[in-house]
Amino acid sequence: MDTSSHENFPQLNTVEGFYFDTRNTISAYAELETINQVMQRCSYYNDLLSKTVPGSDVWKINHAGGEPVQVSAHTLQILQTAASVSEASQGAFNIAIGQAVGLWRFKDQQPRLPDPQALADAVARADYRKIELDGDLVRVPADMQIDLGGIAKGYIADCIADELRELGVTSALLNFGGNVITIGGKPDGSAWQVGLQTPAGKRGADFWAAVPSRDSTVVTSGMYERGFDIDGVRYHHILDPRTGWPIQNGLLTVTACTKSSLLPDVLTTAIFVLGAEAGMQLAHQFGVQAVLLFKDGKVTYSSGLDIVFVRPKD
Ligand code: ADP
Ligand code: MG
Repeated sequence: MDTSSHENFPQLNTVEGFYFDTRNTISAYAELETINQVMQRCSYYNDLLSKTVPGSDVWKINHAGGEPVQVSAHTLQILQTAASVSEASQGAFNIAIGQAVGLWRFKDQQPRLPDPQALADAVARADYRKIELDGDLVRVPADMQIDLGGIAKGYIADCIADELRELGVTSALLNFGGNVITIGGKPDGSAWQVGLQTPAGKRGADFWAAVPSRDSTVVTSGMYERGFDIDGVRYHHILDPRTGWPIQNGLLTVTACTKSSLLPDVLTTAIFVLGAEAGMQLAHQFGVQAVLLFKDGKVTYSSGLDIVFVRPKD
C-alpha cells in the first residue's frame, strides 16, 4: 500500500509513550511498527536509569551503602558528562543532590514544603566530587544519593534517535519531555520547526518562538514544568544545589540547541541555576546556543541562532 505524500516516504506517524515520568512522542515518516518497536526500547532505558526501579543502575548505586557498583556503559557515559558539567559550572549542575530532590514531593496531592533543616542537611552532604568512577565501577558515599532527572532523558533521546536511524528512518521529530531531536528535515526538504512552548499557554498549541531544526536538538527546561504554588510563590523542580530550594532568579525557561541532546539537557539545568550571564558563558564554552526567557517577558539568545518569534495573539 502506498500512503506516501512524498516519493519513497511512508506517511507521518506519531507514537506516544509515557516513560521517565513524562510524555514522550516520536513523529516519523516511517512505518508505525518501526516507531512502536523503538518506543518500546524506552522500557529498557527506564529500567536501567530510574532511581525508583529496584535493580536499576541508579538504584544499585544509591543502595550500595558506600560500596562500588558495576554499571552499564550507558550509565558511565551519563556520569562522565555530569562530572564534566558539574566541574565547569562549579557545581550548579550537581547529580549528588538526590536526597534533596527526594524531599520535594511535587507529586503529592497537597503541596507541602520540605523541612528546611532536612533540606540543608541533604545539600551539605551532596558533593559531586565524591562520586568515584573507576573503570565500570561507581561508588558514592553511603549518606549521599544521585539523581539523573536533569540528564537521563537527554541521553536516552539520543539513543532512541540513533536506533531510529539504524532502522533506516531519515525524517523524524522526537520529543522526550522537552528534549526535542530531529532526524533529517521533512521529506519536502524543509526544516522541522520546533516550537518553544508558551509557559502559561496551552500545551502543544501555544508557542512564543520556533527554532528551525534539521539533524539537531532543541532542549527546554522550565520552572513551569514540575512544581506547585504556595502563597503566590512558585516552587519548582530545578534546585539550587547550595540551598536545596528552587532557583528564583527571574528565569522562566532555558532552551539549548546543538547537535545531540545529552549535553543541552545537562546545560539547560545548569544555566537555569547559574542565571543569565554565567549561564550563557557556560553554553558557549560547550559550543551550545541558548535562548533564555525571563519572567518579565524579556528574551536573550546566542547571536547567530536561527529563531523565529511568534507574534502574540491579539
Ligand atoms: P525536565 O525534567 O523538565 O526536563 P531538567 O532537565 O531541568 O528538567 O531536570 C530537572 C530535574 O533534574 C529535577 O527534577 C531533578 O531531578 C534534577 N535536578 C534539579 N536541580 C538540579 C541541579 N541543580 N543539578 C542537577 N540535577 C538537578
Ligand atoms: Mg536538563
